[in-house]
Amino acid sequence: QDGVRLQKVLAQAGLGSRRACEELIDAGRVEVNGQRVREQGLRVDPDKDEIRVDGLTVTTQGLLYFALNKPAGVVSTMEDPEGRQCLGDYVTNRETRLFHVGRLDTETEGLILLTNDGELANRLMHPRYGVTKTYLAGLVGPIPRDLGKRLREGVVLEDGLARADHFRIVDNVGKNYLVEISLHEGRKHIVRRMLDQMGFPVERLVRTKFGPLALGDQKSGWLRRLTQPEVGMLK
Ligand code: URA
Repeated sequence: QDGVRLQKVLAQAGLGSRRACEELIDAGRVEVNGQRVREQGLRVDPDKDEIRVDGLTVTTQGLLYFALNKPAGVVSTMEDPEGRQCLGDYVTNRETRLFHVGRLDTETEGLILLTNDGELANRLMHPRYGVTKTYLAGLVGPIPRDLGKRLREGVVLEDGLARADHFRIVDNVGKNYLVEISLHEGRKHIVRRMLDQMGFPVERLVRTKFGPLALGDQKSGWLRRLTQPEVGMLK
């Protein structure tokens, strides 16, 4: 059969999960070529058919993928009503609505993915998908030899056990340590809470990897388009 199911097109355009998009259709909020759609599973040609939700045109053309090296002090939202620095301030082309994939704490720096591919964004954020994230954390030692082992075995937090996949000491100068930690979950403040619980409050936190993507030498505050192979690896 030709075409793509309408709920899939809506999800790709960032209107929510496929389930949520089916609800939009059920609620009578979706029109194709000026006709309100009532049934599920209608096949459409996203390049030719005019799809509207609540009267606003929906497009899946020009899917865009960017990596931002978020500076500290920037809130992880595209807009901030209070006028604080936010991710949207780093996006020059304001015509397309980009989503951030997950969040970093305001004080955390590093790699955050921005895209208008809502379906991919939803999938990458889903706990089931378990994207591995890697962080560099600055803390004050000395660090016991078994810290890595304890973090991999799991730390009991108020909302349950949290485990690291990987831990290593990258560098140390006197009492100042730089450690690398990887994990595949996304609870709020997770790295800070795990290290805090072990007695090491984090002084600086930088996300260096998100799944197959690496920050590399991308400068703080810079946005770059992902390469085709990188987009391929994410999907
Ligand atoms: N863990 C944290 O503590 N903060 C972040 O921003 C991300 C992971």
